Amino acid sequence: MEVTEKVKIVISIASLVAATVLIVSEYRRRKHQSKQTSSLSSCYLHSELKPQFGFKRVLADNSYSGFKHLKKLEDVSSSSSSIEKSLNCHPYETEITVLLENPKLEFSFLRGEYLLEMNDSYVWVETELKLKELAETLSKEKVFGVDTEQHSLRSFLGFTALIQISTQEEDFLVDTIALHDAMSILRPVFSDPLICKVFHGADNDVLWLQRDFHIYVVNMFDTAKACEVLSKPQRSLAYLLETVCGVATNKLLQREDWRQRPLSEEMVLYARTDAHYLLYIADCLTTELKQLAIVDSSSPDDKFHFLLEASRRSNMTCLQLYTKEIEDYPGNAAASSLINRHLNGHGDNSTSFVDAKFQEFVRELCAWRDLMARIHDESTRYVLSDQAIVALATKQPTTTEDIYDAIAQADLAIESPSAVVCSHLDDVYQMTQDKLVKLDAILPAVLQKCLGSDGTCPISIFNYSLLVNFKTKLTSHRSAPKQNGNKNLKQFTRKASRELFVKKFSCKAPVYHNCRIYANDGRLLCYCDRRKLEWYLNRGLAKLVEENPPAITLLFEPKGRPEDEGNDFYIQTKRNICVGCGEGNHYLRYRIIPSCYRVHFPEHLKSHRSHDIVLLCVDCHEVAHAAAEKYKKQIATEFGIPLFVHRVLDSKEAQGTSSSMDQESTGNSEDAGVSPLHLRTAAMALLRHGNRMPSSRREKLLQTVKMYYGGRDISEEDLEKALLIGLSPHERRKLERKKGVSLKHSVEVSHMDKQENNNNDTDANSLVSLVEEQGVEVPAGSEKDVNAESNMVADDSSNGTSGGDGVTELNDTQCNGNTLHQQNSKLSLLGHGPHGKQIVEHLLKEYGEDGVRDFCQRWRQVFVDTVHPRHLPGGWNVSHSGRRDFGEFSVYNPTKRLSAE
Ligand code: AMP
Ligand code: MN
Ligand code: ZN
Repeated sequence: MEVTEKVKIVISIASLVAATVLIVSEYRRRKHQSKQTSSLSSCYLHSELKPQFGFKRVLADNSYSGFKHLKKLEDVSSSSSSIEKSLNCHPYETEITVLLENPKLEFSFLRGEYLLEMNDSYVWVETELKLKELAETLSKEKVFGVDTEQHSLRSFLGFTALIQISTQEEDFLVDTIALHDAMSILRPVFSDPLICKVFHGADNDVLWLQRDFHIYVVNMFDTAKACEVLSKPQRSLAYLLETVCGVATNKLLQREDWRQRPLSEEMVLYARTDAHYLLYIADCLTTELKQLAIVDSSSPDDKFHFLLEASRRSNMTCLQLYTKEIEDYPGNAAASSLINRHLNGHGDNSTSFVDAKFQEFVRELCAWRDLMARIHDESTRYVLSDQAIVALATKQPTTTEDIYDAIAQADLAIESPSAVVCSHLDDVYQMTQDKLVKLDAILPAVLQKCLGSDGTCPISIFNYSLLVNFKTKLTSHRSAPKQNGNKNLKQFTRKASRELFVKKFSCKAPVYHNCRIYANDGRLLCYCDRRKLEWYLNRGLAKLVEENPPAITLLFEPKGRPEDEGNDFYIQTKRNICVGCGEGNHYLRYRIIPSCYRVHFPEHLKSHRSHDIVLLCVDCHEVAHAAAEKYKKQIATEFGIPLFVHRVLDSKEAQGTSSSMDQESTGNSEDAGVSPLHLRTAAMALLRHGNRMPSSRREKLLQTVKMYYGGRDISEEDLEKALLIGLSPHERRKLERKKGVSLKHSVEVSHMDKQENNNNDTDANSLVSLVEEQGVEVPAGSEKDVNAESNMVADDSSNGTSGGDGVTELNDTQCNGNTLHQQNSKLSLLGHGPHGKQIVEHLLKEYGEDGVRDFCQRWRQVFVDTVHPRHLPGGWNVSHSGRRDFGEFSVYNPTKRLSAE
């Protein structure tokens, strides 16, 4: 052997040894780290901020329930035919079918001068205002190019991190992380059949847009489909960019972490390139498609044949619907494929005993991985790689160290075991120890440990319904957990609900801005929010006199001064704390006079503004709300006006009164009504046999349900909701269990239903009634979120509140427009709507406006008696008259407001 050879060998050995030492020491170090992490027994999520945790509304959460598609408002309210319509059909099926059946022949992707080159400027869209401007711009275009970038590693279902949109003039990069909750602004342009959207390979993009934003694409030209029809040798965008545009692109950037901000220059370039050239490419391919027709065919009628085929294939893509994968057991599919691959790889099934053990462990680990990924909103591959699962199942390590090492070795390519494994290594250890543990027992145990009352992991909008629905899933599953386990589960669901409730419903920004309005003689008129200042400023009714905090002086003579009228209340600054206990970390608005009455007040009596809307922490809110619901019952008895429409009509009466709600208000109110039992029976019959029953029978049942909903048309959700009317939480649960996993439309009732054993409060303390009464937003995934979303109040600044400060007296007037439907549905869902209307009508008829004022005072008294508020602003009192306005020019002047819209 030559010396040089020997040297080579020595060097190789030396470097091998060095490498081994490095590797070993590296994972010793990591092992050490992991010990520290796991000894904290706290989840890494407490310190890692993931961008998606800022999303307020998530359409596809990590629960095991299916995805709910957008329902267009027309569909929801349109006649009884919607009952037959399946829940998950494409909301734009009709529009897309029209395009497929009557394709349009003119395809013009470019107009006038077109500059192919990409210049330096693009628009970064990260505010709602800019997004609205973009929507406005796009609405005037005939065509635009679109591409999206996803993030999938650190998320269970993945999310859209960026949308690139290019018109002939401009490139827009939409920061869909910052704007996640505002993306519905782009829905109309995407579903507009008159605007063509050009994509390349849109199959996934179409689904991603549905999943994250309920955006549905109608009218698309997919350049990849055009390539297919043209039988191009390659169909990738990179190929087209190179051959058609002479542009090179580095597709490796596709796999970058698109969550990062700011994006690197390289990523911006990549992202823009993916959308910028689409219009040009579409134009060129269209020409080719037309030429192909001419070459290929003798008949001029066929001129558009190939082009139409490309267009047809593109629009077929639009008909695809996003679905969540549902397995019969968590991690099942992954486990089976892993086991198969492993057995095939080994080519033998000799040691079948070992195999059984191996398979069992693989299934356990896959189930654990699946649940952990959902809880932490991570991809399963991030939680634990397939190789690591095989390694663990093969080696069956028995100490936490060995477990860590096995994973680290298997995953050497991926630096170190994931954060999930590091902070939950004990779970895996348990699985290796407890030989008797059944697969069914693992998941509840893990869930309880992670999200339960002593849970280690944070509750988020992603895993919340996992927790809430798990109970039902378990009970319907093979082995029901023990009584005890059930009780704990109940407790921790409640705690979790509360946490999420605080997180989601509490005001995200201080409610009171404490801006000041002065009269032109310099006297302070009131404190208010910024929006109101702007209202006066924009109309030239005031001038800004101070900047920080801002103050204005009115340029007109207001009606009176607060002190002169005993309205000192308005010239107090207001603190952003719970008026009950002083809690300053979270609070939400509380309406002292329940909405079911207030909405029916004469306009000028509604303007109690800040007086009757106060801030309460979640706990005080719950107390106040419960008392209010109880007092409503008292009112109902006192006035003889029931809370729920209560009596079913016999057939004769039914014909007489038809289904109109007006009937109720004209006096014979007590006769028009439907009992909860009849309502539920009718709804159940319609849901089960609606399609098959004779139409006369069906019509009759529909009348019963319609009566409850105030005579409006009924949708399937209405029916499902009706099933729950008048049931106690306990009965609801029983029904849900009977019906299987869960009622599609049942709104979660977990928080606030602890009165379960106190009394037989029907709807009283449910989240449903809270939402309706107090106008708070429902957690994602619940029915209202999906269907009424576009109507829904997304932030605090428009949350129908009091005026004095915290905005929105302005908003109350917007009711005549698009919120009408919302109001209508409010009336029906509420159940108390008809009651409220009758009470107010009664008061006005018998006692006039004084009656309404007295009524308000009674409610304030109830509030004071139950919450014992210690932090009410000075000047607040039970007998406040509520009379106060600025006269003709006031923001509160109803006629003024309407004309100013
Ligand atoms: P593109 O439009 O080609 O840039 O791809 C859009 C998104 O799809 C990317 O942001 C990726 O998240 C995902 N994607 C597409 N192809 C791959 C791939 N081969 N590997 C990983 N991610 C991919
Ligand atoms: Mn792309
Ligand atoms: Zn409080």
